[in-house]
Amino acid sequence: MEHIYSDYFRDKSKITEKRTQILGIVLHDDAENMAAKDYIDWLKDRAREGCLYKGWASIYIDKDTCYWFHPIDYIEWHCGNQFANEHYVGIERCQSKINGVLSDRQFEEIEEASFKIAAKILKEQNLPVNRDTVRLHREFFETACPARAWQIHVNNSEDSEVNRERLKDYFISRIQTYYNQVKIDKTAILR
Ligand SMILES: [Zn+2]
Repeated sequence: MEHIYSDYFRDKSKITEKRTQILGIVLHDDAENMAAKDYIDWLKDRAREGCLYKGWASIYIDKDTCYWFHPIDYIEWHCGNQFANEHYVGIERCQSKINGVLSDRQFEEIEEASFKIAAKILKEQNLPVNRDTVRLHREFFETACPARAWQIHVNNSEDSEVNRERLKDYFISRIQTYYNQVKIDKTAILR
C-alpha cells in the first residue's frame, strides 16, 4: 500500500477548523470508477474552482493507494450532516461504482484495505470498534451510500434498521480483525 499525503499536511493552511473530538469513522462508497490517485488532481481542481463545499473526505483508498487528502483531526465535508462532519473521519472507498470497473471480488479487496485503515485510526484514537464508532453515511443523510457494500453484503435489501446493523456488524467484524493486529505508529498517520 502506497500512502500519499497532500500539501495540507505540510502547509499551515487547512480547509476547515479542528474538530473538538473524533467519535469514529464513516466508510463511504464513492459510486465512481476513479482510483485513489485520480482524486489527487480531481480535488485540486475542486479546490481551485472553489467547489470543495460540494464535498470531500480525509481519506481516499483503493487496493494499492491510500491518499490522505486532509489531516483527520479537522472537520470534513463528507456526510451532508454537521454533527457527522465534525465528529467522524471519512474513508472514501474508490472504484465502488456498481457494474463499474471492478468485480465484487475486486471491490472487496478495497474494502479490506479500508477496514485496515479504519482499525488503525480507531486504535490510535483509543476508540473501540462498535456500532457507535463504525457508522454509515445513510445514518446521517438521505443517500444510498455505501451502495456497493449494501449490494454485496445486504443483498440490496430494504433500508431498515436491522439491515443497517447487519452491514455495520460485518464492517465491525472485519475491522476488529485488523484492530487486534495494529501496532501504533503515531508519526505515520497523525503528522
Ligand atoms: Zn457516502
